Amino acid sequence: MTEIGHFIDGARVAGTSGRHADVFNPATGQVTARVALASKDELQRAVDGARAAQPKWAATNPQRRARVFMKFVALLNENMQELAELLSSEHGKTVEDSKGDIVRGMEVAEFVCGIPHLIKSEFTEGAGPGIDMYSIRQPVGIGAGITPFNFPAMIPMWMFAPAVACGNAFILKPSERDPSVPMRLAELMMEAGLPAGILQVVNGDKEAVDGILQHPEIGAVSFVGSTPIAAYVYAEAAKHGKRAQTFGGAKNHMIIMPDADLDMAADALIGAGYGSAGERCMAISVAVPVGEQTADALIQKLIPKVEALKIGPYTDSAADYGPVVTKASKDKILALVEKGVAEGAELVVDGRGFKMQGYEDGFFVGSCLFDRVTPEMDIYRQEIFGPVLSVVRAKDYEEALSLPTRHEYGNGVAIYTRDGDAARDFASRVPIGMIGINVPIPTPLAYHSFGGWKRSAFGDLNQHGPDSIKFWTRTKTVTSRWPSGIKAGAEFSMPVMR
Ligand code: NAD
Repeated sequence: MTEIGHFIDGARVAGTSGRHADVFNPATGQVTARVALASKDELQRAVDGARAAQPKWAATNPQRRARVFMKFVALLNENMQELAELLSSEHGKTVEDSKGDIVRGMEVAEFVCGIPHLIKSEFTEGAGPGIDMYSIRQPVGIGAGITPFNFPAMIPMWMFAPAVACGNAFILKPSERDPSVPMRLAELMMEAGLPAGILQVVNGDKEAVDGILQHPEIGAVSFVGSTPIAAYVYAEAAKHGKRAQTFGGAKNHMIIMPDADLDMAADALIGAGYGSAGERCMAISVAVPVGEQTADALIQKLIPKVEALKIGPYTDSAADYGPVVTKASKDKILALVEKGVAEGAELVVDGRGFKMQGYEDGFFVGSCLFDRVTPEMDIYRQEIFGPVLSVVRAKDYEEALSLPTRHEYGNGVAIYTRDGDAARDFASRVPIGMIGINVPIPTPLAYHSFGGWKRSAFGDLNQHGPDSIKFWTRTKTVTSRWPSGIKAGAEFSMPVMR
């Protein structure tokens, strides 16, 4: 049995708390490793190492910091297959999908190779007589990140790449369900030349998270996970005087207008609804065809495509998607499907009886498609996070627009149409953070920022892109005067420039 400890001061160390969690291969249902759950003392050790290493790293010039990321990107490429297989073996997603997880994180590492330019300051010469004014961005000091199971490579990199590039030390608390890839990422950062102590990985559960939130030396906390925990982390971090950005759950709609290319829309729904077994925060889980004719035609196109989806273990390169992450997730998804049936939605593709031959103990869930879902139903209101797509029929555009508008979540949304006016109106009026126009999963690239609205995100600065540089640094503004010929004497009135 593999034992996974922590990564502190440049090396793997065993856990000492005596508490562990099981790590499963979701395809077989077997326990493959035990991950240590850190105590507050172990967290303190990580903070001590981070505090000792950070000033020297912050004083390292930004080109040198960038070069670590250049090397890191090269190492990610060299180790891509090994990392992807390791990721799939704990998460369950297909190996190709795991490569996507790694590449989307790697793009953030590529983005921060531009840190010398990104962190440049603003300067005003001659703000007054003999006066210059400039604003500089300095690292927060020690930052921390708490990440979910569904992107164990991308989301840690969303956080540690800009935090570390900005000159911070960083403490990563990955999901306890798939901790192996985050540990490898820390090793690769060391191999790329990062000094020991700058990237610490502390595995754990609520105890480690609470330790981070209460720790007086950790200045900023980034969180991605479910909404109840995101709300908790945001409030607790604020209570302890920390800067926080926390990202939560989602219910992403796709509006299909009567003029849309229905084949394109149906294919987009299949990929975005069922890819990664629906375990993506940007998955489409609600399709909203506008008008009965559109709805009937769409359903007819979707049914055979959903029925044809190939489910399999990550070792099957032909699989469209794999198992969900845990037995508890599988049970929760199936319970919600039962609820949907009981609430009167029409289960037009029923995956409830699905069994994966040869993998009977795996956490596989068959593909489900619901028609005639209404906004009052639990399957509409809750995030299912599984291979279940709900169709909510809207009579017209305004009714379709009102659905994502009124939903508690506001992560992503898409509209499929050939009508530029409708698309433009939609993008302007819908209160959602990320909008796709004929694009099902509008996840911004690394040089833009990622974040939802409403109860999908708390805090005002988003992940990666320009926001991340602001989040992981503090602004200091310097006003300087080098006077020549300025008269002596105190000034008592408010200084103004006229
Ligand atoms: P989760 O909330 O269960 O766990 C996230 C992190 O919080 C983990 O590191 C976990 O150890 C920690 N945690 C869990 N319970 C805790 C508690 N009581 N107190 C303190 N910490 C706790 O989420 P998950 O199941 O790992 O991930 C899936 C969720 O993440 C979904 O809701 C999904 O939509 C969301 N997600 C959101 C985004 C986004 O950008 N908005 C991206 C990916 C995933």
